[in-house]
Formats: sequence, C-alpha cells, structure tokens
Amino acid sequence: MSAVIQDRIGLEGALISLPPQIETDQLEDAVVLAPLGSARLPPGYSGITEHTTPAHAFLEHATSILFPVLFVPNVYFSFDRLYELELLWLTGLAIPLALVLADFIGGLVHWGADTYFSEDTPVVGPALIKPFRQHHIFPRDICTHTLVSIVGNVCILAVPVLALCLYLLWVSPHGLIAFAVLCTTLMAAATVATNVFHKWAHQEKPSPGVRWLQRMRLVLEPGHHHVHHTAPFKMHYCITNGWLNPLLNKIGFFRRLESTLHSLGIKPTNTKKTCDSVRM
Ligand SMILES: [Zn+2]
Ligand SMILES: [Zn+2]
Repeated sequence: MSAVIQDRIGLEGALISLPPQIETDQLEDAVVLAPLGSARLPPGYSGITEHTTPAHAFLEHATSILFPVLFVPNVYFSFDRLYELELLWLTGLAIPLALVLADFIGGLVHWGADTYFSEDTPVVGPALIKPFRQHHIFPRDICTHTLVSIVGNVCILAVPVLALCLYLLWVSPHGLIAFAVLCTTLMAAATVATNVFHKWAHQEKPSPGVRWLQRMRLVLEPGHHHVHHTAPFKMHYCITNGWLNPLLNKIGFFRRLESTLHSLGIKPTNTKKTCDSVRM
C-alpha cells in the first residue's frame, strides 16, 4: 500500500465534500453521510491525493531504482552458481516457492495491518496501517497511485535484503546459499509487485495482458480479492496471487493466530466494520 494520505483533490473535476484534514473515523462518517454513489465522484474513490515527507519520498524513489540494480546480479550470479554445480533444476523449485512465500508474507503483513496497531503507531502507523485501512473505505484510490508510491515502501525493506543476498553469494560458493538467494530474490520481487497486482485487481478496465494473468491466477484475480472487501472482511488477506487463501481459510489460520495472540494478552485493535460496501 502507498504512504500517508493527507489532502484532497478533484478527480475528473469532481469533489466530494470532506473536511480538509480527514481522520479515518471522519472518512467512515463521510461515506455513511454522503454515499459515494450519490456523490459526483466515481464509487470507491475518495478524491484524496497522497503526500509523504521529503525524506520518505527520497527513500521510496532511491530504493525503487536500487531494487532492479540489485535484483539482476542476484538472479544472474545465483543462476550461474547453480549451473556450475549442476543444480540448475533447483530453479524449477525456486520460482513456485518464491511466489507462495511472497503470497504468505504479504498476507501476514496485510492481516497484521488490518487487525493490530493503529494509524498513530510510530513509523508503521502512517506508512502501513493507515493506507491499508483507508483502502477499505476507498478501494479504488489505489488505481490513482503512482508506481513508486505503491512499490516504494516494500523496496525500502527489500533493498537491504537483496544487498545481503549479494554479499552472501560473494563470500560463499555453496549451492544451498545460491538456491536460498534465488528464492529470496524472486520472493522479494513478487512482494514488491504485490501492490501492482492489487492495483490491477481494482482497475475497472485492466489491459488484456493483465486480464490474462488474472484469469490464469498468476496474479490476484478481482473476484477472488472481492471476498476480502465483503463482510465479514476477515478472509483472503493474501494479495500477491491469492493461492494460499483457500488453504488458510480452511484451517482458520488467521483466527487461530488471533486466538494465540489473545491468549498472550495481545488483542486486536481494529474491531470496526469497514465500509467496503462502496464498489471495489
Ligand atoms: Zn485488508
Ligand atoms: Zn483491495
């Protein structure tokens, strides 16, 4: 999800009457008092534009450039090492494993952001919790966000990991290290791409290529993701490709995790019903 949202703008020349400095409670009230369907704004959009601090914007842009710079040598050298050791067949395992791991990690972070902490929590509040929670109120805002704003936060976390991977490839000739680096690098790429896939799932008219990827279930399929935006809003947290959602639903993974944390004294902080009745 993208970073801090503060100001409002007109979308296609239309404005919804929201107060200038909007808190989540007020946003929810605004949705209730002035349903978007009756406003002059397309359903699912807030008309709010996002801004972040200059330091955060610099980090987002710098790491968005650094990510491919580190991704390419990590893939090349880990591939090369596996080829030298006649272990190239492991790449056939690395790709699906990386996609499943990315789906799981993205789902875990998404569930955590939807369930725990608050928008006022230092660091993660404005950077992670607030965008996720506002997404439930205005699901289609993500379609108006720039590429850097939706991948930047993940790149900030992924770049140090890829730098460490490159270092490990440099110091160790072991095949297992090369395999682990390849898995981690591909997983990092899928995690960075997760919000792009999420954005595609909310687009009204995705391109034919994107529709094909969605139909093949290689990326998040809109109908599948719609379940997350439907009451009781407690399912389908995985948003890379959603492969793990059926399994996690079946075993009640997130409810069990919540029960375990509850028994340790950690209670959910977000018990509100979201306003996803606006169109996704
Ligand atoms: Zn959510
Ligand atoms: Zn969504």
